[in-house]
Amino acid sequence: MFDFLTKKFSSIFSKFSGNPRITQDNINTALEQVKESLLEADVPLEVINDFIENVKAKALGLQVNKALNAGEQFIKVVYQEDCSFLGGTNFVTPNFQIPSVIMVMGLQGSGKTTTVAKIAYFLKDLALKKGKPRNILLASVDFYRPAAIDQLEILAKSLDTLPAVAGGYGGHGGMNGRVDFYRSTHSNPVQAASDIYKKFKNNQYDYLLLDTAGRLHVDGNMLQELKEIDANLEPKYKILVLDSMTGQESLRVAKAFDQVVGFNSAILTKIDSDTRGGAAFAFKYMLKKPIIFLGSGEKPSDLELFYPDRMANRILGMGDMLSLIERAEAQIQKDDKERVTQNFASGNFSLEDFADQLKMMGKIGSLSKIVQYLPGMSGLNMTPEMIEKSESEIKRFKAMISSMTLKERIVPKILDASRKERIAKGSGTSLKDLNLLLERFEQSKQFAKLFNKKGGFKGMFK
Ligand code: GDP
Repeated sequence: MFDFLTKKFSSIFSKFSGNPRITQDNINTALEQVKESLLEADVPLEVINDFIENVKAKALGLQVNKALNAGEQFIKVVYQEDCSFLGGTNFVTPNFQIPSVIMVMGLQGSGKTTTVAKIAYFLKDLALKKGKPRNILLASVDFYRPAAIDQLEILAKSLDTLPAVAGGYGGHGGMNGRVDFYRSTHSNPVQAASDIYKKFKNNQYDYLLLDTAGRLHVDGNMLQELKEIDANLEPKYKILVLDSMTGQESLRVAKAFDQVVGFNSAILTKIDSDTRGGAAFAFKYMLKKPIIFLGSGEKPSDLELFYPDRMANRILGMGDMLSLIERAEAQIQKDDKERVTQNFASGNFSLEDFADQLKMMGKIGSLSKIVQYLPGMSGLNMTPEMIEKSESEIKRFKAMISSMTLKERIVPKILDASRKERIAKGSGTSLKDLNLLLERFEQSKQFAKLFNKKGGFKGMFK
């Protein structure tokens, strides 16, 4: 879904190449491109203008930061704004209290019925993972589309016997919890909803997932009916299902539902289609309500949690490079970094510097995280076992280096057999480990020469 924005954004960053600072001139061209990409993605103009103004004000006011060039600084600001437009970083996994009624609303065709099944799947799966099976009742008052009720009945049956946890339990009741379907005999949706609610209460279900009537367009009668059902059942959760393919239209739908019935959160469906990213962007900005899930397919398991920061990353197409830049900036003291970098780049560094480097890596994060962050590196075949092995190797290296004297760290060649044995003993390692450390240290020196030729640390972030 967000590929479209991603491609556009990537071309923007090249606008700054060669410029050390963000200026009124170079920012304007880049902002024009951001604007164009958002327009093409069907984001409403008022939202775009606000976004652009915020980015501009923040980017121009930035202190010159030696660690990042202008392009990187601009990326950072766009990303941060993008992230805050999408809801900030305060993501909490949706938590549905027990017992509760979850009323699912939306236009016909938005994916409401499918989403009811997806939520049931999510609740069953979560309950089984926690070892606390729950009983879920599914029902529908969508009398305008009778086939939707039959569809829900079929889905409920398949969910009831589904082994929600991979390789886990299957079957009905007991350890697995039940997913039941109930069809009310009332033909009036408001009465039917109250009847369904009685069934839920009398049989002590944990959750009632109520599929409501949709129409092709926002309709006064539909909203009125929902309002009455809401007043009678007082559902703890009212979720609006929005079709992400409808772009700005979904925003009008959301506003109409909000004014008459109100809702707590939204689920954006069909993000697996080639739809544009505008709906999520505009919805979050205008309605200020959480998007809790994304629907990414037709199966009950095709439901993803919505993480604003991940979505922002996806939109920008930057991988997690930004996080790496930020962490590096915040956690590595600059003089420390410069000294180590200089020594490293000159190929003239000691085991002391090597230890510093290992410490810096420790500050940035575990090796597995670093590998994920670096573009191109995530494709490397680093298995979890290999990463674990390297990480424990690094720990041993650090222990051995700290058992050495300063002189030994600077000129490791002076280590004789008895010193080596004592260091290994003192650091709880073996002679083999120590020889490996010395070998790796020599390799690093070779690598440093190569690294220097390729432009050093700066080259890594280009
Ligand atoms: P309702 O009228 O709102 O209840 O909509 P339905 O649940 O019947 O869904 C309408 C159509 O959209 C059906 O063909 C669904 O299979 C499809 N659909 C629903 N959610 C998704 C989704 O996340 N991705 C895709 N690709 N299709 C979906």
